[in-house]
Amino acid sequence: MVSHFSFPTSITFGSGARNLVAEHFKKHGYTSVLVVTDAQLKELPFFQEYLASLKKASLTVALFAGVQGNPVKSQVASGVEAYRSLKSTQKDAAILGIGGGAALDVAKAIALMVNHPGDIFDYEDEKPGALPIDKEIPYWVAMPTTAGTGSEVGRSAVVADDTTHVKKVIFSPRLLAKAVFADPELTLGLPPHVTAATGLDAVTHLVEAYLAKGWHPMADGIALEGLHLASRALPVAFENGKDINARSDMLVASMMGAVAFQKGLGVVHSCAHALSAVVDMHHGLANGIMLDYALSFNWKLVPEKFERLSHAVGLNTAADFLAYIKDLKAHLKIPKNLAEAKISPDKIDALVQVAVADGCHLSNPVPVKESDFKEIFNKAFL
Ligand SMILES: [Zn+2]
Repeated sequence: MVSHFSFPTSITFGSGARNLVAEHFKKHGYTSVLVVTDAQLKELPFFQEYLASLKKASLTVALFAGVQGNPVKSQVASGVEAYRSLKSTQKDAAILGIGGGAALDVAKAIALMVNHPGDIFDYEDEKPGALPIDKEIPYWVAMPTTAGTGSEVGRSAVVADDTTHVKKVIFSPRLLAKAVFADPELTLGLPPHVTAATGLDAVTHLVEAYLAKGWHPMADGIALEGLHLASRALPVAFENGKDINARSDMLVASMMGAVAFQKGLGVVHSCAHALSAVVDMHHGLANGIMLDYALSFNWKLVPEKFERLSHAVGLNTAADFLAYIKDLKAHLKIPKNLAEAKISPDKIDALVQVAVADGCHLSNPVPVKESDFKEIFNKAFL
């Protein structure tokens, strides 16, 4: 069998990397840029100063700060209008996404929809009759401010329908950022609960990518090393947000997670997507809560893989890894289960329906049926 691998993103990593962005755009012939970010980040003094620094470097800057919560289709449409309005007065216009996964996914989706006709959901991955992603995509650069989704090195954007909140995945290697500027100093101010939730998203990517079925030894190697880094750094970054070494390791581990999950994800993410759709739960928090429950479903079926995960975090047996996840959750003050997260058990049927329809569990190492999801969610309430 012949396989195809690629790990192509150019990454400039380290404290102060953000200060090299303006020069990068100019070097590539761009003098104007649409900055895409979320409404909260826009209000921070750091952000205003950063915009001023881009302008001082003689870039023409337009701002779209209409990202809020989980990305929805209408945000993408407004961002596309903002890009077109900038482009109408400038001969060139690039996009700079600054923020967590939501802002970066919206930046990516805006880049897609600028020159692609129709509805964004016409480009949904694996949808029968989906339109091809074959038109020009504007030059776009990603600058993450959280260490979690790794969207900056990912080739998909997750966007939800405004009304149903059902998430759809738009996938194409052509959506990859042309360059990433990953500056751990931007993550120093993240509060502990955000550090925990986003960090557990990264951990879940690393674990699920490693467990995902299919043959991808390069992704497996990256996943195990990323898990090793995250297992040491996440508790430190949670306890002491100013620890730049822990922040650096988490930022790189989150990118490793996203690079690795080109191999696939699994049952944990399908549960998390259901929680976001049904009760609008934060993606990282949802993964964190469901991680041990959903992994319990997998571990007896692929024990040798759980043993390797255990080794990556400095432990021994397959069962040790599940115990480790429970301890990590407690340490990071993540609700132990869905009852503790104050979710009503009458949501179980709706959660199961969304989880079954979600595509992530198709790469789970073992098949997951509707009755399996029911059992997983039931246990997550006990
Ligand atoms: Zn995730």
